[in-house]
Amino acid sequence: MAAETHLFVCLQDNFGVLVHDKASGATAAIDAPEAAPVEAALNQTGWKLSDILVTHHHGDHTGGIAQLKQHHRCRVVAPRNEAQRIPAVDETVREGDVVKVGGLSARVLETPGHTAGHIAYWFEADSLAFVGDTLFSIGCGRVIEGTPEMMWQSLLKLRKLPGDTRLYCGHEYTQSNIRFAQTIEPDNLALIARAAEAAEQTAKHKPTIPTTMDAEKAANPFLRADLPEVAAAIGMAGKPAAQVFGELRERKNNF
Ligand SMILES: [Zn+2]
Repeated sequence: MAAETHLFVCLQDNFGVLVHDKASGATAAIDAPEAAPVEAALNQTGWKLSDILVTHHHGDHTGGIAQLKQHHRCRVVAPRNEAQRIPAVDETVREGDVVKVGGLSARVLETPGHTAGHIAYWFEADSLAFVGDTLFSIGCGRVIEGTPEMMWQSLLKLRKLPGDTRLYCGHEYTQSNIRFAQTIEPDNLALIARAAEAAEQTAKHKPTIPTTMDAEKAANPFLRADLPEVAAAIGMAGKPAAQVFGELRERKNNF
């Protein structure tokens, strides 16, 4: 049976999301920015929290873990390389590990760059991926603990996911990301269409995610750093993709 999801807002612009396996009743929270919105989402859905799957150690992804664990006795799964910076961890995972949520299965993908141990959870059978702060809709996370080369490799790893994979990211940054992307590729038709779609979603107070990998490959400049037209657009024709990516990220930091 397919996974069900429930998306909601936490803090200012963080996303919380629940993944539910109807057959077993298991429910995972992907990250836990704060406890109260997760509790509200559980009340609204009637689901019972069995697991918290953590993408990385930042406080706006982990602030609710201790309180939720105390209340629900749920299992906390976290990336091995930064588990010591995450509260109440029960199980650590690394590249290639499989995490079960009831009858659902997620494969762990290590995507370092934003943080050194950042991971994503790919529910292949459900065409779902939770990419934390590595990839955003039309953007990507800041390279805080890694190098541009490392982050570019992480994005390439995610880019290999099937095109119809629905992507859930950690923040609602789509509108700002689109404004930046349009400075790089103003004539990109997929980006123009995405801008209209996101404006409509935002006007209706709806989230702009999930997005899909196909949609991101068509319009997200950070996944397109190896295309000649993107390199040329920033005066870096012929330069290595990781360098082009690094320059794009630098420009976004100052945007
Ligand atoms: Zn973060």
